Formats: sequence, structure tokens, C-alpha cells
Amino acid sequence: MQVLGRLFNCINALLGLNTLKSLLRFWGFMLVLLPCITLMLIFTYYELQNTKRESAENLEQMITMQQDTIDKWFHERAAVIRDMANWPVLKAETEDIESIDARIRQFLQSQDEFSAVIYVNKAGVTVAAPFATAGIDISDRPYYQKAAQGQEYISDVLTARGAADGQPVVVFSAPVFDEHRQFKGLMLGAVKLATIDKIMKQFQFGRTGETYLINQQGLMITESRFIGQLVKNGVAKDNARLSFPINGETLQVVSQGKTGTAAYTNYRGQEVIGAYRQLINRDWIIIGEVEKGEILESFYRQISIMLICFLVLMLATLPLTMVLEKRLATPIRRLIAGADAMRAGDYSYRVEQSLIDVSVSEIKTLCNVFNYMAENIRTKTETLNDANQALTVARDAALAASVAKSQFLANMSHEIRTPLNAILGMGELLGETPLTPEQEKYVRVSRSAGENLLNLINDILDLSKIELGHPTLNKSEFDLFIAVEETCQIILLQAQQKGIALHWHIKPETPSRLVGDPVRLQQVLINLLANAVKFTEAGEVTLEVSQRSQPEADFVELLFVVRDTGIGIPQDKLGPIFERFTQVDASDTRKYGGTGLGLAIAKRLVELMEGRIWVESMLGVGSTFYFTVIVGQGNETTEAAHLSCTGFITCQQPMPEAIRQEPLNILLVEDSADNQLLIEAYLKKTPYKLDIADNGQIAVEKFMARQYDLVFMDMQMPVLDGYQATRTIRNWEQEQGRTRTPIIALTAYALQEDGIKTRDSGCDAHLTKPIKKRVLLDAIAHFARRNLM
Ligand code: ADP
Repeated sequence: MQVLGRLFNCINALLGLNTLKSLLRFWGFMLVLLPCITLMLIFTYYELQNTKRESAENLEQMITMQQDTIDKWFHERAAVIRDMANWPVLKAETEDIESIDARIRQFLQSQDEFSAVIYVNKAGVTVAAPFATAGIDISDRPYYQKAAQGQEYISDVLTARGAADGQPVVVFSAPVFDEHRQFKGLMLGAVKLATIDKIMKQFQFGRTGETYLINQQGLMITESRFIGQLVKNGVAKDNARLSFPINGETLQVVSQGKTGTAAYTNYRGQEVIGAYRQLINRDWIIIGEVEKGEILESFYRQISIMLICFLVLMLATLPLTMVLEKRLATPIRRLIAGADAMRAGDYSYRVEQSLIDVSVSEIKTLCNVFNYMAENIRTKTETLNDANQALTVARDAALAASVAKSQFLANMSHEIRTPLNAILGMGELLGETPLTPEQEKYVRVSRSAGENLLNLINDILDLSKIELGHPTLNKSEFDLFIAVEETCQIILLQAQQKGIALHWHIKPETPSRLVGDPVRLQQVLINLLANAVKFTEAGEVTLEVSQRSQPEADFVELLFVVRDTGIGIPQDKLGPIFERFTQVDASDTRKYGGTGLGLAIAKRLVELMEGRIWVESMLGVGSTFYFTVIVGQGNETTEAAHLSCTGFITCQQPMPEAIRQEPLNILLVEDSADNQLLIEAYLKKTPYKLDIADNGQIAVEKFMARQYDLVFMDMQMPVLDGYQATRTIRNWEQEQGRTRTPIIALTAYALQEDGIKTRDSGCDAHLTKPIKKRVLLDAIAHFARRNLM
């Protein structure tokens, strides 16, 4: 079965039959063709054998009959001579030759078969020989010798001695006995061979059949039916018998046995089927043969008729296979077209009913199932589309609600921070005035509560923003060293206040120019550093940055390690520490403030940057927070970047006196009178000269009229807001070919994207309200130093 299958596949591959149509046509045709050819071959073989056998049998019958006739002929002629030998005139003591002669003469005249009859005397001399020569001694001839022994004799074919026409004859002899049964002589009778020809010619088998006699030497005794033609063609010299030998092949065939049938090439060079038989008591062989062509004529006729029938059948197969193909292949083609339509999203396609009706039952079922399925899919798709539409509407509504919520959060943040700025700032200023110890305590409590409130607002805003908006990274090229330094600067004040050293170290070979989201990175660092400072009472906090593995293609994996010598975290609390609202000390009397959100935010941001965060800690010894991020590689060109990685940089150093004493011109753009007052108070005891603009418009005008070293820009203002004002200033600087004056956004907008937005408009940094005096002074020092350097 497998072999058949393989053969089927091979044939199909060889002939390129790969469609149902071609397969059906070819194999449909072959299914008719193969049995027909097989049947025809079998029939042809048996018919051929049959025809040959039948003709051989016919021939055999025929020559058997002829042999009988010839044997009878010999018998009769021998009897005639025997009768003569018994003539009383021969038996008389004294021979009356004349009477004998007259008697013979009379006999000869009454028939025409015997060409001569001769009486030979005891001495072997012809004595009565009418129409022949008398007185010839024939005592040397076998017929005389046989007669002398008292036996009859029939000779082979002889050319009669003394016979005028020289025609071949067969000589019959019989002994003559006297009354005392003594040998007295013999009677000879020469019978013309032409007599046998008559018998032979009785048999004429069709156009090409003949029988003939050959003698032991292979010479043809009887006259060929085709002798005239043979002489004409120069094959035979003349029609003389015995001079015409039959060919070797015939002789070979007939010498194989006394009787039989065979196919051979005869003396005329024709392919024949022949039968042969030796005559009784004689060496002669009778052959009957017919040309093969004639025998096979009827066979060829039958084969031709069969071939015609076969062709007609083949032609009839063609429409049949076409009908079959139509019944099978057309519905399948429609099914394929339907499947294609479905793939293209068109579910309206159906196989036509007319096709299904004429199909075979399996295909009919397939088509019906297809149509049913297509209808099902169509209705289900419609239902799904409706549901999708409803979902889209619901999602849009949810998105709108989310946007509204974000907007609400941003507004609330702004609204809460603006008064908080004044409260905290004024509290800070109040703390600098001479106070009684009790007043100092109240101020401290008030400021700490304010700061806690601020942290709480920051964390809640961040987390809700992350959870709401599925945050995405805002990637840009940045300088790692600057980002780290800026971050440490922010934490530095808190560290200084607690008397803790803050170190940061970026290991050599760490690339400085990177592509990533510096704001998100800083957010994580601030969280960890702030915690480290918060939970450390004495000692130091260090930040270490290194490249984790060799850069792959354009990416670098960085490892950040924040280590402190603080209170540490118990082992059982290490696991859930990155979950929301988790704090080690959750008691009512806990010492450290906080929301328990910082690490949860840090974890999400690290994961967003394709990294991991983990912690190692020992209670009472300290904690180490690790996190990795994957960032892109930027163009490593900045010289300053390389300078920064030359070892530990401590932030405990006091600010250079030169910068502190620099009488910088600072422009404060701020619409709130409270905040104007606060900043003025912050800068009161410094050498900095403060100029104030109430809105963006005034700020632009002032900036163009005077030279400033630094600008603090509020963002939300009447007339012209901070974004537009910054953009106008940056454009003007470019047109005038001036160097960039540092512009620091000072705003109550605290969300991450607010920072991005202010940087986009051209600001160099983003400080959020409420602003502390220290942060403000540090920022002035930082940017002034950069400007001076
Ligand atoms: P918060 O600090 O606002 O409470 P976090 O998510 O930042 O929230 O921290 C969760 C808790 O993990 C903290 O309350 C504290 O108990 C513990 N923790 C975080 N960082 C440290 C640290 N460096 N040393 C000791 N404990 C820490």
C-alpha cells in the first residue's frame, strides 16, 4: 500500500499534477486506459495464439486428407499394374508379344495417366513397349530386381527413359508369374506425376495457401501453385520439377519429425505457418502452408475494431472525467475561495446551492457545514463588533475620566503646594529669627508636619500617576555624571543637617553619555538616597555606580548601589519591603515619617527601565540597596564626564567663597506676592541682587533690557506664562548670539511630566514649590558656578 502511495506521489510529481482538476482528469483517464490496455494485450495474445493454433490444425487436417488421397492413389495405380501382370496372355507358355503389345496399346489409349506400360521378360529386356523402345536391358534397375524377388515396387520420381515429353513419372512394377508360379518377367507402368498435381491442387487455402510434395533430397516433386510467378521473378529457372529445391529453413523444419506444424520462412521467402507429414511407406513429405499475413488478416481486423472501440471509449472518458471533476473540484474550489474570503475578513461568502445540489454527498456535507460556519462567524463577528464598539465607548469614557483624574491631581497638587510653599518658607524664616525655646519647638513641629505633608503629597501623586497612566519612559541623551551629581546635591542638604557624610563614586570605564530617562533614574536614586539618609543617624551614605557587564551592541547595564550605616532592616521584613504601604516600623509611635510608597514606586520605575531592585541589610549595621537599569549608549564626547570619574567626591565641602560672595543679578518671575516675599526673604542676607517680574511679559522685557546671571521662572502666570516667556527668551538669545542664561523653573507643578515640559520649553532645571531656602541657595550656587566655570 505504501509502495503504491509512493508510486502515486512520484507520478504526480513527475507530471506536475498538483491540482484536483489535473489529478481527476489524469487518473480518471488512466482508470479507463489501464484496464483497456491490459484487456487488449491479453485478448491480443490469446487471439494470436488461437489463430495460429486453428490454422495449424486446419492445415494438419488438410494434409492428412491429402495424404490419404495420395496413398490411395498409389494403391490404385499399383493395383492396375498388378492386374496387368495377371493378364492370361502373359502367363501363356509362349509369349505372344504382339497380343501383349496390342493389349497394352489398347490400355494406354483408354486413359491418359500412364505415359508408358512395358512388359519386361525374365532376362530384364523390354519386349512389349508400345510408344517406347523395345529391346532395352533394364536388369540393373531396382524395379527389375524387386520383381525377380517376386515383389512389387514403386519408384521415386523419375524422368522416364524414352518418354517423349520428358515428364517426370513414378514407375510401378509387378512381377509376372507363369502357371507354375515361376518368375517370368515383369510389368512396368510409368504414371505421369502431373496426375498427383491434380490432387494437390484440390487444396487451395485462400490466396496464399498451397500443398506440395518434396522428396528426401528436398526437391519439390509437385508443381508449385506459384511457379509462374516464381519464374517471372527469376526465383526459379523453369517449371521443371525436381530441379527446384525448397529452401533450407523449410527442410530443417520438416526434417525434425515425421509430422508436425511450424512457423518458418518458406521457399518463396514468405513467412508462413505450415503442417507437414511423411507419406506412408514413402520418403516423400507432404507440406501444407499458408502465409502468416493471410492467417493474421482476420486477427488484425479484430484488433483494429478493438482499437477503434478503445479510442471511442477514451473519447467518451474525457467528458466523463470533466463531469466528475465538476462534481468534485468545483465545490472544493469554491470552498477555497470562501476560506480566502474569510481570511480577508469577508464572512458573507457562501457556496452556491446549485453546486451543493449536484455534489457527492461528502462534499455536499462539507459545503453545507462551511456555509453554516460562515454564517455563524458572520453573526458572531457582528456581535463581537457591537461589543467592541460598546467597549471602545466605555474605554474612551474611562480614559476621559482618567485624564480628568490626572488633571485633577495636577491641579490639586498645584493648589496645595502654592500655600504650602509660603507656610514652609515662612516657617523656615521664622526659625531664623530669635525665638524662645518654646517658640523654637513649635516652629520645628510645624515645619516637620509641613514637610511630612509635602512628602505625602509627592508620593501619592507619583504612585497614582504611575498606576493610572502606565508610565512610559521619556528617553533622551543625558550625562550620567551630571545626573548623579544633581541628585546628590538634592540630598546633600538633608545629609548635612544630620551630620552624615554623603559620597558618590562612579567607577572608571562607566560610560557617561547615555540614552535613557534621566528624570525617572533620578527619581529612583532620590528615593533610595533619601531613605538612606532618613534611616541613618551617624556615619555615611554612599552611592556607587558601575557598568555591570561589557556593553552589548548599543546597550549598557548599569548597577547602582546605595549603602548606609543606618538602623538596618530585620530579615523577615526584607521580602515585602518593596510592596506598597510597607514600613518596618508600622507602630503608632514610630520615629520616622513616611508613607511606605517610596520603594514601591522605585521598584516599578526600575522594572520599567528593564532592571531589578533588591536589598541586603543587617539590623543595627546598615542597609545596601541595589538596582540595575539598561540604558542606551550615547556619543562619548564630553570631557567633563571623564573628569568626574576620578574617585570619591565628597559633598561635604563648603561652597567656594568666591561664588558665595558673587553679587549675581537674579530675576524672579513670580505672580504670587507671598512667594515674591518669601524669595526676597531667603536672599536677604546674601550678596545676590534680586529683580522681580510679575508675569512672563514683564520678564521678557526686563531680560532684554538688562543682563541677568540667573532667572527663577514660575510657570503658571497671567498675561504670558512661564513656558512661553522661556521660549521667547531662548529665541532672543539665539538671535542675539548670546550665551544661555540659566533659567530655573520654580513651580508648584510637581509631576514628572511637568519637569519634562519645563525642560522642553528651555529651562535648565526644575525646582518645585514649596522650596526650601537651602535648596534655592544651592541651586543658585550650582548654576552660578557652572556659568563662571
Ligand atoms: P517610607 O520611607 O516613606 O516609609 P519606603 O517605601 O521608602 O517608604 O520604605 C518602606 C520602609 O522600608 C520604610 O518605612 C523603612 O521601614 C524601610 N526602609 C527603607 N529604606 C531603608 C533604609 N535605608 N534603612 C532602613 N530601613 C529602610
